[in-house]
Amino acid sequence: MYLYEVMKAVQLIEVDKDLENREVPKPEVKGDEVLVKIKAAGICHSDVHYRDGVGSVDKLPITLGHEIAGEVEEVGPNVTRFKKGDRVCVNYMITCGKCHFCAKGSEQFCEKGNMIGKNVDGGYAEYISIPSRGVYKLPDSVSFEHAAVMMCSTATSMHALKKTRFQPGETLAIFGFGGLGVSAFQLAKAFGARDIYAIDIDPDKLKSAKEMGAIPINAKDVDPVEKIMELTNGVGVDVALELVGLPLTLDQGTRVLARFGRLGLVGITRDPWEVDSYEAICREKEIIGCSDHLLSELPMILDLADQGKLDLSNVVTKEVPLEADPINEVYHQLKKFKADFRTVIKP
Ligand SMILES: [Zn+2]
Ligand SMILES: [Zn+2]
Repeated sequence: MYLYEVMKAVQLIEVDKDLENREVPKPEVKGDEVLVKIKAAGICHSDVHYRDGVGSVDKLPITLGHEIAGEVEEVGPNVTRFKKGDRVCVNYMITCGKCHFCAKGSEQFCEKGNMIGKNVDGGYAEYISIPSRGVYKLPDSVSFEHAAVMMCSTATSMHALKKTRFQPGETLAIFGFGGLGVSAFQLAKAFGARDIYAIDIDPDKLKSAKEMGAIPINAKDVDPVEKIMELTNGVGVDVALELVGLPLTLDQGTRVLARFGRLGLVGITRDPWEVDSYEAICREKEIIGCSDHLLSELPMILDLADQGKLDLSNVVTKEVPLEADPINEVYHQLKKFKADFRTVIKP
């Protein structure tokens, strides 16, 4: 007999070990919190890093998962914006709303920020309770599965395009056409991009890039910088997004920029690369770090999805139940880099 209600969760018990099925207390709802019955939780590459100890979690055991959508089950006494049954999605940072960074709308640097599924228990569970500040209503047209994934990769791409001040009529080079790249492409299209170059070495990804309307460039066959310079009559691109995290693509992204061009750094690496400062000065190039996303960017993403301008049906391609075995199998595939699809857990 339990003295509290329990729920199912799939947890990381020990770093470098498979996740396990657990029964944990069902979260309580206090003050300004919303209890969400989770309908979809995305499995992200960073979850695999946490499991492997590459990125560290704050506690063990922990319920991983930061890409969450579901239905409101219960609201705390101070919540007026939501009611039971509302379809919602969840920002992956729990932020205070009061500190210096929150006050200026840069919540990703909140002094008291906690990341769901890293600092606190996350979405591989039946329920989660979170402050209503980070909860958004989901348009009826957007599925739980797509919304969950949008909370991470699409939000990251949106922030990168905002940080690099991408304008209608500009050209864009996307280095790495995986899930992030596809989101960046669709968003840039919605923002009125002129030409979008998709650089990758995977023929399948390049094929889908071409089908979507991007200009595919296989970096195995040609030097992407030479190719883009040729296609732009030596001008280069206004914005390049580096989504891979390799010195090689960082170098290419820097060299391919036009005058006033901006390079957005998104792919994570600590490896340095060389910058020709003469070129950077003479062309007034900018190199811009892009970290996470802002709360204010989420409603824009949901609007664009509602308008049909964001379509994740090619990105979210697999669903698994809330069970340790199939989730561990997805981790194994992600680790081998075999899987560039997104898998969503459906509790
Ligand atoms: Zn993620
Ligand atoms: Zn804050």
